[in-house]
Amino acid sequence: MNLENIKRVDPEVAQQIELELQRQQETIELIASENCTSLAVMEACGSVLTNKYAEGKPHKRYYNGCEYIDVIEEIAQKRACKLFNMEHANVQPHSGAQANMAVFMATMKPGDRVLSMDLSNGGHLSHGSPVNFSGLYFDVKSYGINDYGEIDYDNVLQLAKEHRPKLIICGASNYSKIIDFKKFREIADEVGALLLADIAHIAGLVAAGVHPSPSEYCDFVTTTTHKSLRGPRGGIIMCKEQYANAIDKAVFPGLQGGPLEHIIAGKAVALLEASKPEFKEYAQQIVKNAKALAQGLIDEGMDIVGGMTENHLMTLDLRKTGKTGKDMANVLEKVGITANKNTVPNDPQSPFVTSGIRLGTPAVTTRGFKQDDMIEVAKIIASAIFSSDNEIGLNNLRQRSLKLCNKYPLYS
Ligand SMILES: *Cc1c(COP(=O)(O)O)cnc(C)c1O
Repeated sequence: MNLENIKRVDPEVAQQIELELQRQQETIELIASENCTSLAVMEACGSVLTNKYAEGKPHKRYYNGCEYIDVIEEIAQKRACKLFNMEHANVQPHSGAQANMAVFMATMKPGDRVLSMDLSNGGHLSHGSPVNFSGLYFDVKSYGINDYGEIDYDNVLQLAKEHRPKLIICGASNYSKIIDFKKFREIADEVGALLLADIAHIAGLVAAGVHPSPSEYCDFVTTTTHKSLRGPRGGIIMCKEQYANAIDKAVFPGLQGGPLEHIIAGKAVALLEASKPEFKEYAQQIVKNAKALAQGLIDEGMDIVGGMTENHLMTLDLRKTGKTGKDMANVLEKVGITANKNTVPNDPQSPFVTSGIRLGTPAVTTRGFKQDDMIEVAKIIASAIFSSDNEIGLNNLRQRSLKLCNKYPLYS
């Protein structure tokens, strides 16, 4: 990685970047929403495009000098539409939360009703949490998951009939089963609601055909580009042509100023990469690795919410071990594994403590980890949790993690 200039100009920041690179190289990244982009994506993001103001949309800009920017943004739009089989794409949202905010703005007035998945059951803050704009300005009703870790579609229908929402959101940040978009469409039609699929987590799987696509069933599809899709940090909104104008207006001038064209170029590169046969293999391997990790953990005597995963992630349920998500995420960090604490259904602990840990495989799969490696990871996790007070034991586990990391070098 070339840091020549920043080292000369700002050694203080350069040093932290180098340390962060080393941290990424020497830890097993199991945060389900993280990934490692290609160097090609990073070059686009670090390019001269960061210098350009391009408020507006291609060929309708408020600034001059956008002829090359226009081509790049149109390439990104076309690739997004093609990859996800949607009619219109706005590639300007700075993040996934911004993308959702734009859909809210385009479809509803403050006070209108939304039905979405509850945050503590796996939903996202931007789907209606009381501390987020979505929950502050809209009337939010929520559905959850049942004891099998699944969405109960009959219950969603019942809630929809009872509350008559204007917008229904499907898609989650922590849901390990396949989402049935067709069922959500039927529910939305039954009550005359619009349907948004937020595929932030599963976008890479959808792009590769490893998870069913929402395109046929949803009015709006939002996604992040930096999770399983393996692009730069950012968001994309896709929709039917009939909503294109409303969405574009909500993004700009509704919510954002100048688009990040360097990031949009990075999104274009990532979308091209995601359309290749190698990416299909990658996405298939993500799921194989998640299943191997889940089975490995079950074999070590651990519980997984909802049992076997069907996608890239799972939640380890720590209740029977008597340990908390907060403490165990810290123990895992000691042994070189990064993951986040997460609530489990009916969690006796607070959201700051929790009884669960969310684990995902997109990042380690990018590095090259295969099923055998995931079984070793499962053993390291289980040993760390069962002997979390044994410093010598934890040191040995740290060495085992390091060995796996060295087997699959990152950016070197
Ligand atoms: C990650 C995530 C988002 C938000 O993405 P940011 O880029 O962090 O704003 C939105 N929705 C879902 C379902 C997510 O998992």
